[in-house]
Parts: sequence; structure tokens; C-alpha cells
Amino acid sequence: MIHHITGLTRLGGLLGSPVSHSISPMMHNDSFRELGLDYVYLCFDIGSEKLGNVVSALRDMNTYGFNLTMPDKEAVLPYLDELSLASQIIGAVNTVKNENGRLVGHMTDGIGYMRSAKEAGCHVIGKEMMILGAGGAASAIAVQAAIDGVSKLHLVSRKSRSWEKAEKLVRQINENTNCQADLTDLADTGTLRTLLVSTTLLTNATSLGMAPNEKSTPLPDTSLFHPELTVSDVIYHPRETRLLAEARAAGCKTFNGMYMLLYQGEAAFKIWTGQDMPTELIKERYF
Ligand code: NAP
Repeated sequence: MIHHITGLTRLGGLLGSPVSHSISPMMHNDSFRELGLDYVYLCFDIGSEKLGNVVSALRDMNTYGFNLTMPDKEAVLPYLDELSLASQIIGAVNTVKNENGRLVGHMTDGIGYMRSAKEAGCHVIGKEMMILGAGGAASAIAVQAAIDGVSKLHLVSRKSRSWEKAEKLVRQINENTNCQADLTDLADTGTLRTLLVSTTLLTNATSLGMAPNEKSTPLPDTSLFHPELTVSDVIYHPRETRLLAEARAAGCKTFNGMYMLLYQGEAAFKIWTGQDMPTELIKERYF
């Protein structure tokens, strides 16, 4: 229930399609209430066609900003005035701040992932990381990891739709950050085995293993795991994917994508309000 809507209440929310399943309204409205902020967060089911008009209205309506989900994360770019470094490299935005009519785009998915890795006790700065996939989640994580100071980034993709995107991402990371990025075919088990020996953190950012396809895994060869490796999954439904269960059985530390979701919201909240989200309370209630 929303309390105390006033003549000064500022609007924000989530644009995309579908959006009704999102946990973000609970996360942000509870946090606004807890901190006594006169803000409200709603969901708007908006596909790419109407996006320009909607963004223009949100700019003029003195909103504090908004989030974007599929299919609007890339489609929103032409309507924004400025982009964070991560959003420039990735070419996508999940959080917009309205700075007095000037719309600034950010990407907090990668920030959320890196924070969740730290919380899981995995210290990857100055070390090597491997990311499976080259879609939206993989790009956001790869670019943030490179900006944060991961020394080498091994991107792994199947040779299909994503391959060219992955090649571009590697080029962009090498040109714009101090991180050294390379690309390997997911089918090249020999190279994966060699790279994994010196890798600290392995991340599945493909949708393989997500319900209802719980039996699938991007790395069926479990001899690739070693106990010094932390293995994570961006998937959180199921809480433990086949990849994570097999990695855990091989002695690896593991964590899932639940807190990536929480911390991307925490980062967006900070961008909009300048204040810290009451994260522990949100965690207790919804995670
Ligand atoms: P996406 O843009 O469609 O990318 C999916 C990636 O997985 C692509 O590189 C795709 O390759 C690859 N892939 C799919 N099926 C594959 C297979 N059978 N073998 C090898 N690679 C395969 O999707 P996304 O938005 O990045 O989402 C990926 C996952 O992340 C989803 O499960 C999503 O729910 C999750 N996610 C979690 C969070 C969080 O907060 N925890 C946030 C965002 C996303 P192709 O292009 O070749 O198909």
C-alpha cells in the first residue's frame, strides 16, 4: 500500500514488456517509505514503439528517473542526453536519472553482479574471470568487471547469433579499459580447461539451466571445475542450477543471481536518491 501521496510526490518506475512480474516496485516503494522519501515507483508495460513518447513525457513530468527492462534497454539510447562509461561500452541502459530535464543513462546490472560476488567472498579484482554468454547480462557483467579492475576477462560464446556481438564486446573492452579480454568458442573444451586453471571466478550468463530447462548446463564436463574456482550463475530460478550443483559437488564455492537482482536495484536507488537503500530490510522481506 502506498502512503502519503502528496502534491509533491515524484514519479518513477519501470518501462518494458512484460513488467507485471517485477519485484522492483516492492523493493523501491518499501525503501522510499522507510527513508521518508516522497517518491513512488510504478510499472508501465511499454514496448519499443511508444518508448520515445513515453520517455519524452517522463522527462517533462519532473520524474526522478526510471528503470528499463527488455525490450527497451537498447531502444532507449536515442532518447537520452548522456551515458555512463559502462552504458557507452555496452550500448544499453537499465537506469535513467532525470537531472532537471537532462536524462542520464546507467547500467546497474553489472554493478549488482560485482557487489554480489564480493558479498559471496569472491575477490576477483586484479584476477581472471570467465563469463559464459554474450547477451545482455553477460555484456553488463563483463564491462563492469573490466571497469572495476579484473585483470583478464575470458568471454565464452557459442558460434551463433552472439558470436559477432561477443567479438565486438571484446574489442570494446580492450579499447576502453585496462582489462585484457579474449573470446573462446564454448565448444573448445581444451582451451576452456587451460584458461580455467588460472581463473578465479566463472559466471554463467546464458539462460541455460533456467526453469523449465533445469536439466541443461553450459559446462557438462565437470572435470573442468577445480576447488579454487568460484562458480556463479545469473539465474535464480531455480536457486541452484545444475551448473552450481555440479560445481559445489566438485568443491567450488558457488552463488546464484538472486543478489545481483537486489544490488542492481540498490545501485539504481542510490543514483536516483543519493541515499543508501535499506538493503538488509529489503533482503529480509523479498530475497
Ligand atoms: P540474452 O541477451 O538473450 O543472452 C543469452 C545468452 O545465452 C546469449 O549469448 C545466447 O547465445 C546464450 N545462450 C542461450 N542458449 C544457449 C545455449 N543453448 N548454448 C549456449 N549459449 C546459449 O539474455 P540475457 O538478458 O543476457 O539473460 C541471460 C540470463 O540472465 C537469463 O537467464 C536471465 O534471466 C538472467 N538475468 C539475470 C539477472 C539478475 O539480476 N540475476 C539480470 C539479467 C538477466 P545465442 O545468442 O547464440 O542464443
